[in-house]
Amino acid sequence: MPFAKSKLMEFPRDVIVGHAVVDDIHNLCDKVISGSHPLIVHDEVTKRIAGERVLKKMKEEDYTVEEIIIEKATLKEVKKTETYAKKWGVDFLIAVGGGSVIDTAKLASFNYNVPFISVPTAASHDGIASPRASIKIEGHLTSKQARAPLAILADTSVIYRAPYRMLASGCADVISNLTAIKDWELAQRLKGEYYSSFATALAKSAAELLIDNAEYIKPDLEESAWLGVKSLIVSGVAMSVAGSSRPASGAEHMFSHTLDQISSGKSMHGEQCGIGAIMMMYLHGGEWEMIRDALEDIGSPTTARQLGIEKELIIEALTKAHTIRPERYTILGNEGLTKEASRNLVETTGVA
Ligand SMILES: [Zn+2]
Repeated sequence: MPFAKSKLMEFPRDVIVGHAVVDDIHNLCDKVISGSHPLIVHDEVTKRIAGERVLKKMKEEDYTVEEIIIEKATLKEVKKTETYAKKWGVDFLIAVGGGSVIDTAKLASFNYNVPFISVPTAASHDGIASPRASIKIEGHLTSKQARAPLAILADTSVIYRAPYRMLASGCADVISNLTAIKDWELAQRLKGEYYSSFATALAKSAAELLIDNAEYIKPDLEESAWLGVKSLIVSGVAMSVAGSSRPASGAEHMFSHTLDQISSGKSMHGEQCGIGAIMMMYLHGGEWEMIRDALEDIGSPTTARQLGIEKELIIEALTKAHTIRPERYTILGNEGLTKEASRNLVETTGVA
């Protein structure tokens, strides 16, 4: 049989990370986009933080700029963004914000079929560079296929001023790649699932960058934002190579998504994934203490108490996590964990 394999990988074309780079937005647009009619997507807060500056710069440089203020990452907001993009006939979208804004713009640009530029104002999860969008549909957070940003402009002087908890959570999200990779390797061995060693190497190097530098990631230090953003971008690129979230999302993410459904939802995505990664690495027989110590150094929760979630809910989430995405094979297998095994896991790893 002739060789007939084919695969599409979509990457960001230009990535600018650094101090005060938000003022270079027009130069980036001049370089990567031929159109002159963007729609800026932000929320009330991110407009104040960086959106205003982006608007002003773009107008000064003779772009015809439209803007929309969104509230949350819901299908309704995605539709609203699409409707305005169509009404004004814009050439591209610029998302200025945290996870919700970027996810909304990402999916709207995919549906309306124009490129988008990602301008993250916080580094709370790896969605800033990935081709997938987390959108709330009928009350449930759903991961939708969208497109990777055409370019990323990450201003460390903006990002390090966001609440530190967001950066710590983003770092924990990347560190959890280590268990996602273990799950992927397991799925390849046991189920013959497609596997990419290139995507794995990228996802792993992003996590290791943070583990090796954990002690330098702290509040009020702009270099911390640099490390966090860099690792989140590499993690997003790993997903582009894989063509799925596989290298960055395994059983620890299923645990986190289950917690989102059964708890009051005050803890952050990355914080939950970090704790999930400690426990899943224990199940894999890997170096779970190394993950715990790195999270501790960074200041991301390592216990149920720090997460603000009761021990019994953590145990319940562990017993249900395997049902959240049954087609994604992980260390939890098809049957999941028993209540006893879950209790044992929580206690042995010191999570509760
Ligand atoms: Zn994640």
